Amino acid sequence: MNRLVVQKYGGTSVGNIERIKKIAERIARLRKEKIDIVVVVSAMAGETDKLLAMANQISAIGKDRDMDLLLSSGERVSCALLSMALDSIGCPAISMTGRQIGLLTDNSHTKARIKEVDTNRAIKALEDGQVIVVAGFQGINEHGDVTTLGRGGSDTSAAAIAVALKAERCEIYTDVDGVYTADPNVVPNAHKMNRVSYDEMLEMSSLGAKVLQFRCVEFCKNYDMPLIVKSSLVEDSKGTLICKEDSSMEQPIVSGIMNDKNQAKITIKGVPDQPGIASKFFTGLADENLSVDMIIQNVSDESQTDISFTVAKAEINKATKVVQDLGKLIKARDITTDTNICKISIVGAGMRSHPGVAAKMFSTLSKENINIIMISTSEIRVSCIIEEKYGELAVRVLHKVFDMDKTLVNS
Ligand code: ADP
Ligand code: ASP
Ligand code: MG
Repeated sequence: MNRLVVQKYGGTSVGNIERIKKIAERIARLRKEKIDIVVVVSAMAGETDKLLAMANQISAIGKDRDMDLLLSSGERVSCALLSMALDSIGCPAISMTGRQIGLLTDNSHTKARIKEVDTNRAIKALEDGQVIVVAGFQGINEHGDVTTLGRGGSDTSAAAIAVALKAERCEIYTDVDGVYTADPNVVPNAHKMNRVSYDEMLEMSSLGAKVLQFRCVEFCKNYDMPLIVKSSLVEDSKGTLICKEDSSMEQPIVSGIMNDKNQAKITIKGVPDQPGIASKFFTGLADENLSVDMIIQNVSDESQTDISFTVAKAEINKATKVVQDLGKLIKARDITTDTNICKISIVGAGMRSHPGVAAKMFSTLSKENINIIMISTSEIRVSCIIEEKYGELAVRVLHKVFDMDKTLVNS
């Protein structure tokens, strides 16, 4: 067998025909080195949002099965076009949808998890000397219905295919040249990290660094698959390698600052302060496959209390309906929602040995007059929910206060 590399190109990288042709040339060059290649593509930039907007014009709570069929079409367009571009320059290629590449998922429409990749067809195509171009972000479930893997899911398609085909590495090509200490489009002084450990990247992805989808990092960590983030827009981008932690890696107090804009808050006011109430709401949400992130419950006042929690913005309508139905049953006084929030997080392994990091974060936000709505912490992370309009300002001031504007991390 030849060496095998899996490459994934994001929306900007396949954003127009010119870029698709450029990528085809890049792939054909690598192919000449006798390397087998599987290419996973996202939809052309903006296409998934356009499809979502069309669905939302019809219904705020559409059927998830229909939504998946709709959203998967974006990736099919770029996949077919790239395969044509490769063929047209004499590099034999075959396009494959999620079904054709054998990507089987569970039944959770719009956020399905990959169960298995049946590689038979892919192996035959590689043996025939073809470059395989895969429509990312999609699979099929046990009923043969199309499923999608959640926003940013093409990253995870690439990781799962790399693991299943035992590729030597998984390369993610995007519009920035690696993983930075903060979103480089928001913090001009952010630094690119040459290496990041799987664990740190897992934290960063789960907290809103959308450069890699969380489950992509999880797959690569579990199977020790080298994962590289690079720019498709510049030649010879060195990128960032995500790999096992090693002792030569620095442990700065704060290594990354994230802003997760995909958050919405629901508050249930005036519920009886008695055993079983919280369990009713959160069981109801779990039964509908809705994930809850932060939760706070107020101190009880005259045997009544308020509960606030956050969910993904895309799921706010569904979650509100569940909570309203249950709220009626237990006679909650009021239910309110807020979609103008974001979650700011600071992450760093060095936090374990440095007290006062949370205090410094809170005082920095207060100096900017930014009100903290909710707080959660772990051993190596502090997160605050604040008003969305202050999100970018918060990231910039925290980046400065924690001395990250000048520190080069793991380089
Ligand atoms: P693609 O379409 O290639 O999948 P995404 O938009 O999903 O690209 O991810 C790349 C974007 O992630 C960058 O343009 C950048 O704005 C954003 N980003 C957020 N946090 C970070 C970070 N810490 N490092 C690098 N990029 C980040
Ligand atoms: N096209 C999908 C999205 O915009 C999946 C991806 O790009 O990875 O979320
Ligand atoms: Mg992405």
